[in-house]
Amino acid sequence: MDNAVNLRVNCISCSKLQTLTLPAGGYRQWRHGVSVQEAFPDESAETREMLTSGVCPACWNRMEGDVEEEDEMADRREEAARDARKARDKASDELAAVQAESSEALAQMDRERVTGVKNALVAAKEALARAESAAASFFKAVRAKRRASKA
Ligand SMILES: [Zn+2]
Repeated sequence: MDNAVNLRVNCISCSKLQTLTLPAGGYRQWRHGVSVQEAFPDESAETREMLTSGVCPACWNRMEGDVEEEDEMADRREEAARDARKARDKASDELAAVQAESSEALAQMDRERVTGVKNALVAAKEALARAESAAASFFKAVRAKRRASKA
């Protein structure tokens, strides 16, 4: 390349030294604040990416793969969260129904019925607690994963 500049850059991810051969004119423009797209219209997307983010093509491709995998995992987690919320809402509804039934039954002083309803109330409360703790640990895991992926 006529009037070319060899720019040696270490990838910020794998630290491998990359040599980018760039047109001197574009390089001067870029150093003076012109965007990489304008300064290097003929360079590859990978070369421009290396200039803007400092990530080499190999690392860039690997990161894109990771992002896809993370999206997939996020979808699965969201589904699990939806299920946990549904279970919680259902238990909550059951609890409300049982409580309504319970006060009605108490008014009738039907002991057997009261016992049955009380047992159902305990079961519904336990189901609600389980659903809530499942939802809580799920969100905790999501937050931990987000922190880990930011680090
Ligand atoms: Zn790299």
